[in-house]
Amino acid sequence: MRAVRRAIRAAYMKPDSDSLYRFVVEGCNVRGQLVYLDQSWRQLASRHDYPPVVRRILGEAVSAAALLSATIKFDGALSIQASGDGGLRLLIAQATANGTLRGLARWKGELHDAQLSHLLGNGRLVITIDPGGDGERYQGIVELQSDGLSQSLRGYFSHSEQLPTRLWLAVEEERVAGLLLQRVPEPDTEESWLDDDGLSADAWRQTVGHAETLNPTELLELSVPDLLARISDDRPVRLYRGEDWRFLCSCSREKVTEVLRALGRDDLDSLIEERRRVSVNCEFCGAEFNFDAVDVAQVFVDDHHDLQGTRH
Ligand SMILES: [Zn+2]
Repeated sequence: MRAVRRAIRAAYMKPDSDSLYRFVVEGCNVRGQLVYLDQSWRQLASRHDYPPVVRRILGEAVSAAALLSATIKFDGALSIQASGDGGLRLLIAQATANGTLRGLARWKGELHDAQLSHLLGNGRLVITIDPGGDGERYQGIVELQSDGLSQSLRGYFSHSEQLPTRLWLAVEEERVAGLLLQRVPEPDTEESWLDDDGLSADAWRQTVGHAETLNPTELLELSVPDLLARISDDRPVRLYRGEDWRFLCSCSREKVTEVLRALGRDDLDSLIEERRRVSVNCEFCGAEFNFDAVDVAQVFVDDHHDLQGTRH
């Protein structure tokens, strides 16, 4: 019995790698999630030689995507995408309901430490939820705040009439971590969290206030129970082990074929003539897809069949 208890305690000493924890602070309508990405983060970040500032923002975006995807029930993918005309050209972080993550950034020139909005210049930040199956894609524009991604997302939640939500994100070489707090309605009345004088409003403010005192190292390294004790004011907390995360790309030869088909037969034929084959690399995972003259001809044979199919 004692051995079992020790094992349980040991399991809680350090957060598990590449894992998500869900929790509910009892009696005050605050719920949250903690995410820790280790190997998945290292694999994702090692695909390109990112400058430190780009790597940090990519890490924040990946942990935010994991946290946000875990707040919704769906079968698809949630992406955070930023693009602009500054040194940071493009940033994509995607998390799926199956616990897979991928992401990349494109930049130019030398970048020094600065916030997302400065790096993007004239840019925009978009959250896309692709529910999978026949569901309709949702896109929300996030207003860029000068103090970073988590602040921008906070603004997004307060403007989009969704549940009040706060995020804290921490990135280091080997691990990224994120904490999300969300204020949920009372179970019996949908609107009661709007009552700012109630216990639930105080508890929300206090929990957020305690979370504000966590420094990045604490967010990355505190054990899950210690961290929850810090933010919950000794209120009881129910803790659930959530999904595991892994780096996995959703690229495929079929998807590359679609892209080639969209380029058109003439362009592809001249590429084949010039280089004998067309080679496409996935920027997310580095996978290489090669098409020789026969493969390219096949791309358009299939296309022809599809067209005939849709005509009848
Ligand atoms: Zn890929």
